[in-house]
Amino acid sequence: MNETPEVVVLRLGHRPGRDERMTTHVGLTARALGADRVLLPENAGQSLETVEDITDRFGGPFEVELTDSPRAVVRGWAGRVVHLTMYGERVQDVEGEIRAAHRDDDEPLLVVVGAEKVPFDVYEEADWNVGVTNQPHSEVAGLAVFLDRLFEGRELEREWEGGDRRVVPQETGKRVVPTDEE
Ligand code: SAM
Repeated sequence: MNETPEVVVLRLGHRPGRDERMTTHVGLTARALGADRVLLPENAGQSLETVEDITDRFGGPFEVELTDSPRAVVRGWAGRVVHLTMYGERVQDVEGEIRAAHRDDDEPLLVVVGAEKVPFDVYEEADWNVGVTNQPHSEVAGLAVFLDRLFEGRELEREWEGGDRRVVPQETGKRVVPTDEE
């Protein structure tokens, strides 16, 4: 998955307390499903720590950063921007175009997910507003399906580097081994 430019996920908005788990899950889902980096709002420090801790234990590479202006990140992004929204074009209609553009690009692709109401400027600044169905659901679900479509499932075969443990898939039960016993 390193033959194309980076994929960076931006979490737009974070209500402390209420959004704690969702913001953390945006980060964990970005990591698990093939993104290279997640940018979280600066008040989401607890989520950053959790995602860093998981990366330290289960491997990477994956980067987590805080930004004091998520809106400025979108405005100033050098590469293309996908905004996930239930009001957008159907993912199945635009995924091919997005994949082809990403393949030919030199700059990282930014994937934006919201929390509460997303300002209309973001809809205008995005290269694509993409709906994973046009039904309301969750930023975590939308991100997971979008990344899987973007990578056409290749993220499921990814090899992890570093960390101190690996889960060994089991038909029943749980098996976790230290990385040096792999
Ligand atoms: N009501 C808010 C608005 O109008 O902007 C959105 C709230 S929703 C709970 C939070 C985020 O989930 C959205 O900003 C969007 O990124 C994502 N989301 C929800 N449904 C989606 C869908 N069908 N397709 C893609 N993303 C979706």
